[in-house]
Amino acid sequence: SVVITGATGHLGRLVVADLLARGYPADRITAVGRDTGRLAGLAGTGVRTAPVDLDDPETLKAPFQGADTLLLISGSEVGRRVVQHTNAVEAAKEAGIGHIVYTSAPKAADTTLVLAPEHKATEEVVAASGIPATILRNGWYNENYAQQLDQARESGVVIGSTGEGRVASASRQDFAEAASVVLRDPGAHAGAVYELSGDTAWTGAELARTLSEVLGREVVYRNLTTEEHVAALTEAGLDEGTAGFVAALDANIRDGELGAVSGELSRLIGRPTTPLAQTLRALA
Ligand code: NDP
Repeated sequence: SVVITGATGHLGRLVVADLLARGYPADRITAVGRDTGRLAGLAGTGVRTAPVDLDDPETLKAPFQGADTLLLISGSEVGRRVVQHTNAVEAAKEAGIGHIVYTSAPKAADTTLVLAPEHKATEEVVAASGIPATILRNGWYNENYAQQLDQARESGVVIGSTGEGRVASASRQDFAEAASVVLRDPGAHAGAVYELSGDTAWTGAELARTLSEVLGREVVYRNLTTEEHVAALTEAGLDEGTAGFVAALDANIRDGELGAVSGELSRLIGRPTTPLAQTLRALA
C-alpha cells in the first residue's frame, strides 16, 4: 500500500491515475493533500483520501498508518519545504513505513540550481531516516512553458536569459509514470537515485521554433541579460523577488544545470519521453 503526498497537485493526480490504470488496487492507495475539492475528486476514483497539512505533523499520523511506501512529492511552498518534508519523513518513521520515494531536482547534491538546497536537505533527511529510499530527481516539466505559449501567441516573441543553455524537459505524465513504476515495485529501486530528464534538450531559440510550429505564426526568442530580464519581468507586473527568481533559474539554464540528457526517464517508463511540441500542442 502507498500513501501519496501532494496527491491534490498536478503531478500527484497523474501518479494516482497511472497507478489505477495499471491495476494498482484503489483501496491500497491513500491520497493526501490540503485541497478538499481535489480530495473529493480523488475519492471519487475509489482511493482513500485524507486532508493533510505538511506543517502540522498531527494530521500525518492516521493517514500514514499501515502504509508500506510513502511517495513524498516535494511541496510547493519554497522556503518552508525542509521542515515540511522532515515532518513527513518523521511521520513515515513513526508509522513504520518501509520505503520512501522522494521527488527531487537534477543533481540536487551538486548543482548551483537555486531550487536545489531544499531538495538536497530533504534527500539528506531521507537518508538519515534509515528507511530504504528511491530518489527521483525530476527535471523540468514541459508544462512550465505554458506561459510562453500565451506570450508567443500574443506578441510573437518569447523573452528569456538562457543564452545557449538547454532544457532537457519532459511532460508531467512522463515523470508521473516513472513514479508509478517505482511504486509498483519499490524493492527493485531501493537505494537508487535517478536523474530523470527528457530525451532531448532544447535552447531558447528552439523553444521559439517549437512555439512557432504549434501556433502557426512567427515566434522569435529574444535573449536578454539577467538585468534586462529582471527589468522586463517587473515591467510586466512581477514583483522584484519573483522576477529575480525567474531570472536566476534562467541563469541556471544558461549554465547548463537543467540541460543534461540522462536517458534514465525513458528507460524507466519504457518509451521515449514526450516531446515539448506535443505537450505545447495539447495546451495550445
Ligand atoms: P502543484 O503545485 O500542482 O502541487 C503541489 C502539491 O503540494 C499540492 O498537492 C499541494 O497540496 C501540496 N502541498 C504544498 N504545500 C503543502 C502543505 N503545506 N501541506 C500539504 N500539501 C502541500 O505541483 P506539481 O504537482 O506540478 O509538481 C509537484 C512538485 O514538483 C511541486 O510541489 C514542486 O515541489 C515541484 N515542481 C517541479 C517542477 C519541475 O519543473 N520539475 C515545476 C514546479 C514544481 P494542496 O494543493 O492540496 O494544498
